[in-house]
Amino acid sequence: MWPMTRTTDTSAAAVPMDALSTGLLALLNEKDAIVARILADEATRQATTIELIASENHVGPAVMHTMGNWMTNKYAEGYPGKRYYGGCRFHDEIEDLARTRACELFGCRFANVQPHSGASANIAAYMAMCKPGATILSLPIKSGGHLSHGLKVNFSGTFYKIVEYDLDPKTETLDYDAIQSAAEACKPAMIICGYSAYPRVIDFARFRKIADSVGAYLLADIAHIAGLVASGVHPSPFPHAHVVTTTTHKTLRGPRGGLILSDDEETAKKIDRKVFPGSQGGPLMHIIAAKAVCFGEALRPEFKEYCRRIVANAGALADGLAEHGYRLCSGGTDNHLMLVDLRPRSEDLTGADAESWLETAGIIVNKNGIPNDPRPPMVTSGLRLGTPAITTRGMREPQMHRIAGLIDRALAAGGAEKVACEVRREVRALCTEFPLPH
Ligand SMILES: *Cc1c(COP(=O)(O)O)cnc(C)c1O
Repeated sequence: MWPMTRTTDTSAAAVPMDALSTGLLALLNEKDAIVARILADEATRQATTIELIASENHVGPAVMHTMGNWMTNKYAEGYPGKRYYGGCRFHDEIEDLARTRACELFGCRFANVQPHSGASANIAAYMAMCKPGATILSLPIKSGGHLSHGLKVNFSGTFYKIVEYDLDPKTETLDYDAIQSAAEACKPAMIICGYSAYPRVIDFARFRKIADSVGAYLLADIAHIAGLVASGVHPSPFPHAHVVTTTTHKTLRGPRGGLILSDDEETAKKIDRKVFPGSQGGPLMHIIAAKAVCFGEALRPEFKEYCRRIVANAGALADGLAEHGYRLCSGGTDNHLMLVDLRPRSEDLTGADAESWLETAGIIVNKNGIPNDPRPPMVTSGLRLGTPAITTRGMREPQMHRIAGLIDRALAAGGAEKVACEVRREVRALCTEFPLPH
């Protein structure tokens, strides 16, 4: 850990902050000073470090503060107009607004905004499309898939028969011919596309062709790229996928939560039933209000520009790292993230060491297995880096090259404290120049 400076006045974090956040810390300092101190520390950590975890972002004040509101007090089991509790008039109104905005944003007919998370969205969507024990064809986590796509210890691997497809070992990209063959061999009930660590464009139309050829459903899990899809920076899974699941907190920059989209009324009905009562109880109505705010923000023209910049920044960061001798898996990136193979820079540099040395320097990343990684998942030979959070701060290409240089300096020093402190100082200066949204 880097040295934390703890202010004695715990009512305020030592960083620029909107009035409501300052007010919250002041209120909490009176009601619960211990929690106030921890939250102020976390606010300071986020404000003074460079966030490169591809699945994370910094929400703006409107989304942030909408998450704590009166809607949290209410049970609203059911759906607008069909609730199991009285007093839901405004809950109906907010959920309808969120659903309408989600459909407009993604160009589809039906949205379920109740899933508590991306994994919860997948649970409900799988239950709607597949009987327990059905065969699902998906990319394993070691190649960039998500644990909810079939990991043995997850519900998906427990209740379904999972067959894996894989990346082309040479190009490290999706091999559609191989996926076609795998589908013909296992005759899956459903094929999953959409990933957690895949830096390239997904050809949804091609996936639908494969699905149709074997009579399977196609589920697109766009958790990572939802913002890029909403803004047209990545092709849309509609009209190709039968069901689309996503999170709302990654590139979409909303509250932590899930969302299920579809175009067919019968499918949408099945999905609604599998969310509630199938897999959840009362919806988090305060979070649904914040989802509505997030969708409203994403519908504005500035969001499209934001997403373009995310992708331009990812390209620039990838180029910068390549210039320092790192290898980009698949040769680069088309989206918001990249997988960095550390071995060409230094044979014995592991993802685990890199993650911890960079944290000391104030750069937050996660280790990640690269395709066919010889090292185990808790060690790895790679890092997954993404630009959504730093793009939210307003950073552009020049800062990407600077960050690539800082990363290389921290890693080349092999964790040496003096260099880490120097890099940490530069990171702080960069963060002061590009403050969080407030
Ligand atoms: C992040 C992610 C999820 C899960 O989201 P949670 O909100 O953490 O449950 C699901 N699928 C993919 C592809 C993801 O990247």
